[in-house]
Amino acid sequence: MIPKTHRRVVLVRRPPGEVAESDFHIEEVPMPEPGPGQVLVRVVYLSLDPYMRGRMRDAASYAAPVGIGEVMTGGTVGEVVRSSHPGYKAGDMVEDRLGWQEYALGPGPAMRKIDPSHAPISLSNSLLGMPGMTAYFGLYEIGQPKPGETVVVSAASGAVGQVVGQLAKIAGCRAIGIAGGPNKCAFVKDTLGFDACIDYKAEKDLASAVKAACANGVDVYFDNVGGPVSDAVLANLNFYARVVLCGSISQYNTAEPGPRWMGTFVGKRTTARGFIVWDFNARYAPALRQMGEWVRSGRIKYKQDIVEGIENAPRAFIGLLRGDNFGKLQVKLGPDPTGR
Ligand code: NDP
Repeated sequence: MIPKTHRRVVLVRRPPGEVAESDFHIEEVPMPEPGPGQVLVRVVYLSLDPYMRGRMRDAASYAAPVGIGEVMTGGTVGEVVRSSHPGYKAGDMVEDRLGWQEYALGPGPAMRKIDPSHAPISLSNSLLGMPGMTAYFGLYEIGQPKPGETVVVSAASGAVGQVVGQLAKIAGCRAIGIAGGPNKCAFVKDTLGFDACIDYKAEKDLASAVKAACANGVDVYFDNVGGPVSDAVLANLNFYARVVLCGSISQYNTAEPGPRWMGTFVGKRTTARGFIVWDFNARYAPALRQMGEWVRSGRIKYKQDIVEGIENAPRAFIGLLRGDNFGKLQVKLGPDPTGR
């Protein structure tokens, strides 16, 4: 039974610094009716990701901001419940970017069918979706890890970081994680199989801790956080190191994120390259097949952090920006028809 109304989260204010729940408004709106060529999707899982902080800013970026009064943008996994589109029928499970809402008309910008028999559908927002592809192409394409090298990754227990370290191990490297707190570090080392994990919140001298964990220096730094954590890693770069500029979450709530370590890069002849995961869109299919095999065989493990209910999305997103999440953060908006 499809209800007559549904809920969605719109942006009502652009915060200059820390995000607050009052920057969002949850509104109840009439259920949309699919026109010719459209489908109605019930969103089951909404992905919450750090990039959404950037979309709350009205500043030049690689992607347009969310407008005031508009639905917050976001990756989704859902179920087609009505279809006037020849390619989709009720019951199809689909991945798309339909935003923070319980129901939406599709196809959206990235609609694709997913096969629930391959893996739990929530993984299409995580390991077998954007964060997994970020780890895969960021490390293998830009980091270019070689057997025996040392790879360091920050935000190591998160959506991207937990995959980076496991891919580094598959490539024959030493994998060193950096994460906040003993629980996250124990998970990274004992469950995911990294060689070591440094708790940046507990270390007084982080650069020395990185040096102690990386006896042969750092060959690849996969940077998810920027700021002081990255300064400590950069102090330990080897000559000709590669720095994968993936993100700088430690700076996202600051008004004006600053420039980054040019002197270090010059002196060490570092290759530092930024990327946006969709640069590799055309090569997702074989990468997803490979990652799917690794997850099915148990070679890659993955932790998700799933919050229930759209009303909790703003609070969960605020928590993500300060490290409250443990694993890939998603919001479950309704029952998962695949039951997995
Ligand atoms: P995570 O699941 O890792 O969640 C974010 C984590 O960042 C938190 O759990 C927290 O972990 C850590 N963190 C938060 N604040 C700080 C801080 N001040 N200093 C250090 N660490 C902090 O997020 P994702 O894996 O989804 O994203 C990781 C990074 O990758 C982000 O910067 C994101 O923007 C970027 N990204 C880039 C993409 C691209 O195409 N270039 C695509 C996808 C993501 P802890 O408790 O360990 O501190």
